[in-house]
Amino acid sequence: MRRTEVSIDLAALRHNLQTLREAAPSSRIMAAIKANGYGHGLQRVAHTLNNVDALGVACVEEAITLREAGITTPITLLEGFFHADELPLITRHGLEMVIHHARQIDILEQQSLSTTLRVWLKVDTGMHRLGVPAEGARLQWQRLSAITNIEVIGLMTHLANADDLSDPKTEQQLALFADCCGDLPGERTIANSAALLGWPESHADWNRPGISLYGVSPFLNGRGEQHNLRPVMTLRSELIAINQLKKGDAIGYGGSWHCPEDMAVGVVAVGYGDGYPRHAQSGTPVLISGKRVSLIGRVSMDMITVDLRGLPDARVGDEVVLWGEGLPVEEIAEYASTIPYELLCGVTGRVQIVEKGK
Ligand SMILES: *Cc1c(COP(=O)(O)O)cnc(C)c1O
Repeated sequence: MRRTEVSIDLAALRHNLQTLREAAPSSRIMAAIKANGYGHGLQRVAHTLNNVDALGVACVEEAITLREAGITTPITLLEGFFHADELPLITRHGLEMVIHHARQIDILEQQSLSTTLRVWLKVDTGMHRLGVPAEGARLQWQRLSAITNIEVIGLMTHLANADDLSDPKTEQQLALFADCCGDLPGERTIANSAALLGWPESHADWNRPGISLYGVSPFLNGRGEQHNLRPVMTLRSELIAINQLKKGDAIGYGGSWHCPEDMAVGVVAVGYGDGYPRHAQSGTPVLISGKRVSLIGRVSMDMITVDLRGLPDARVGDEVVLWGEGLPVEEIAEYASTIPYELLCGVTGRVQIVEKGK
């Protein structure tokens, strides 16, 4: 059997939730678990975080999957409804949702809701993606509040640049949010992971961490361990061949990497067909039996090649870690010119999943 697997460390997930609670002790936590729990398994993450205050997902399908799996934690649809025909499902499953656009309010005004629907109003303070314009927030809040059976939980905004602690935009967004809705009643929620860990002034009734729950730093060039976070996902495989090659031999498709001397090259059973990034450069670290070696040549669909000059004792069958325990996914993302979020979400269905730390 091909031994390419991800292990999901449930104890690390629980530890990270506790770390985030301690970092913002007066706030409740809405855990962002959209996109299959950032690739860790939607139900698995929800069951493990059974003591979190709420869960945030991207769509009603994700929410219903959770309800059908017996999850009773409050669930918020972070983008609200896309089409009016979702509303009966949303009320039936008792989902809460974010209203981000006047068009959604138009639709709600035309419905007759049979039971109470709890909603957040999202305000655009500078992200310029979702949210009603800050200057119109009061008007939209009044419209929503006037609808029978709509209960406005409170106000929400999302920060665009909180991952950069030197960027003045975060303070501008916080000031605009306070300014446009300071005296409106209800709860407030602002912070993603970066704001929770780096901008204490953004802490509100609720914070909404995602990536940090999975043990990953939200900051540019950051590492989870700097914040007492532990990696939840580890991607592993094994060494399936070791070849003694000659000086000048070209490795893999396109032959872009040439052996600078006679040397051993290892082949590892992982590739972009598993979610390992095709754009990882030569030099990307790979951990074999706990020691770092370098990726060389192009990433194939099912395999990568590694420089074994520093590892004379390497044997076929040795365990290989691509990211996770001992090798931060943040570092792999830098070598692949992407972000850890994309790597975690991108592990494909053929990779076996094992759980630890139950
Ligand atoms: C995904 C998401 C978050 C979590 O962001 P992280 O950077 O992963 O902490 C917070 N708020 C909203 C609205 C989101 O969609």
